[in-house]
This record gives sequence, C-alpha cells and structure tokens, in this order.
Amino acid sequence: MGPQGPIAVFGPMNANPSVDSHLSSPGSRDFGHVDTWVFDLDNTLYPHTSRVWPQVDDRITLYIADLFGLDGMSARALQKFFYHKYGTTLRALIDEYQIDPADFLDFAHDIDHTAVELNPALGSAIERLPGRKLILTNGSRKHAENVARKIGILDHFEDVFDIAASNFVPKPDKRAYEIFLDRHAVEPTRAAMFEDIAKNLVVPHELGMTTTLIVPKTLDPFRESFEQEAVKTPEIDYITNDLADFLRTHTPLAPKQD
Ligand SMILES: [Mg+2]
Repeated sequence: MGPQGPIAVFGPMNANPSVDSHLSSPGSRDFGHVDTWVFDLDNTLYPHTSRVWPQVDDRITLYIADLFGLDGMSARALQKFFYHKYGTTLRALIDEYQIDPADFLDFAHDIDHTAVELNPALGSAIERLPGRKLILTNGSRKHAENVARKIGILDHFEDVFDIAASNFVPKPDKRAYEIFLDRHAVEPTRAAMFEDIAKNLVVPHELGMTTTLIVPKTLDPFRESFEQEAVKTPEIDYITNDLADFLRTHTPLAPKQD
C-alpha cells in the first residue's frame, strides 16, 4: 500500500481488485481551470486487451536478442534490467551501445493493430474537453498516430510529443516534461495529465498539473502488478479504470460551437 494506505473502493467488484470506477480524495485538484489536456498513449488511451503493448514488448526483446546474440530468456532479463535502471530500453541502448533510435523504434512498433478497437465513447469525451489536447508518449510519433487513428481519436489531438521530440529522454525524467511544456507552450498549472504509470505523474503534479492515474479494468498478465494497482499517493488526484466515463463525468464541457 502507498503512504496513505488504501482508499475507498465502491461499486461492484471486478477482476482488478484494486479499483472499480473512479476514485478521488479530499484536496484533489479539479479540472475547472484546465485549458490543456495531456494524455499518455500506451495503456492509457487503449486497454491492454488491444494487445498493443505485449507485441511492442516482444519486439523489444527480439531486438535485444538479435543485438547481443542472446536467447529469449536472457534477452528478457536484460530488457527488465534496462527498464528498471534507465526507464526505457531505448535509453539504455542509446547511452551504452549507441544504437540508432529510429531503427529501434521502427522495429519495436512494427506490430499488428487488428485488436485495437474503435472507441467512439472515448472520442467524444476527448472532443468535448475545452482546450488543447496533446499526446505525450515514450514511444514514437508513428506508433502513436497509428494507434490513435485506429481508436478513432487522432483528429482530436493538436499534436504528438514523442520520444524523439524529447531527445530520447523518457518520462519520468523531469527534462522530458520540461522540453514538452516548452515546445508546446503549455502552462502546467492549467494542464491535466492522464497516465497509466504512477511514477510518470510525480513530476507533472509537482509542476502543478491535475493528475489522473488510469488502471486496467481487468488485470493485465503482461505487466507488472505494481503498475496496475490503484494506490493513492499524493501525486495522484484521481484514479479511474474507465477514461471515457471519467472524462464525461469529471471535466467541464467545451462551449458549443455553432
Ligand atoms: Mg502508458
């Protein structure tokens, strides 16, 4: 449990025992003042049942196996080590092995998008948010555009800030957010961030953003359990397992366009 322990869970139980629906606590920042809406991509704008991330993860393992001449098990172990030590495998490969990041990203994101479903509810929830909408991802622009197009939400976003735009410095490194805020002229105290990895919300919250953690409705067997728990920490204002419904019920409506 986090420093504040468990918080109230309401509604019917589901397969992810740590959360159902939406959670907040007294003192959470709200959305009334927000004019810029920032979304992570992977496992935030689509559920794990879309089978996107396991494929990317497998492609990264394959890349490492090929690069170092390792079997799958050893490559997997090295990948985990890179992830924990450097934040992303790509960062480790650039810093320590001088690989070509474009080559890595093309290889890692060469996946099958068949299981990515159109999500009209999410599309309309994002469309009606008042202000600018941006994607902030540790993946590539091409990957983000491919996936967002398949979900049917790409046109609602002003731009994608990807790992190349941040000079291959990944979230949660503070520099990644600073470059993003500067590049897109975002005032963090008037911005909201939606993200599925809790540690990626620490800096945004420090900078004044309203933060929402997205957790899966059903536990994802391909991800570490700590990344899926609805543990309320001070840098998280809200937790939800249904982003579209959360946006519809917790955020202001954009003024009607005639
Ligand atoms: Mg993510």
